[in-house]
Amino acid sequence: MKIIAIIVAGGQGKRMGQPKQFIRIAGKPMLAWTVDALQKVKAIDGIILVVTPGQEAAAKRLKGSKVIAVVPGGRERQDSVRNGLAALPKGAQIVLIHDGARPAVGAATINDTIRAAKQHGAAIAAVPVKDTLKKIRKSKFEIRKVMTVMETVARNEYWAAQTPQTFTAGLIKKAYEHLKHNVTDDAAAVENLGVPVAIVMGAYNNLKVTTPEDLPVMAAILKGR
Ligand code: C5P
Repeated sequence: MKIIAIIVAGGQGKRMGQPKQFIRIAGKPMLAWTVDALQKVKAIDGIILVVTPGQEAAAKRLKGSKVIAVVPGGRERQDSVRNGLAALPKGAQIVLIHDGARPAVGAATINDTIRAAKQHGAAIAAVPVKDTLKKIRKSKFEIRKVMTVMETVARNEYWAAQTPQTFTAGLIKKAYEHLKHNVTDDAAAVENLGVPVAIVMGAYNNLKVTTPEDLPVMAAILKGR
């Protein structure tokens, strides 16, 4: 089966204060770690890199031997995914979508989502949440602004979605063609079609580097490899 990975690294890094794809962590750019993690997996035939507009040349210099295309990202994550899907080669059967900001993804997690997607059509990595979750009245966090708890939700019913999120090519293309609202992951586009999405156990160290305090944590994880 022809399996293509799309790495979305086209964000502006608003919560980091700068685009984060080329921040050096444990000796190399974050995106280089992510590309290496995916191309090490035998089952992956090709990689499409979606990067912040203007960073295409830097992305090509990463020397990803499986990289078949480098395309610019869009305004929202879903626009970046759409640009990646548009670059899929003919004959792609399975599409794996992965955040460039998750450089510590392991081969087992990648292979587990591929196996489950072959079987169920759609599969994502996720982990059970560890903290107790509070539903709040204000959704936007502002430092020093007091928020109030509306409700404590049943923690054992919630898992935190990660990437890879892996699909049969026809399904994920259809999901994005039909998508009319904003989503923060790819599974939500598939769920919107009413198609069930399988979950495989991800890994707690498959962190998404989002805010500056994530950088030393990720450096420690990657140095331990
Ligand atoms: O913003 P968020 O943390 O959800 O981003 C997850 C991944 O999606 C990151 O790797 C980021 O670079 C990518 N992204 C993108 N295009 C955007 C926004 C985010 O490729 N417009």
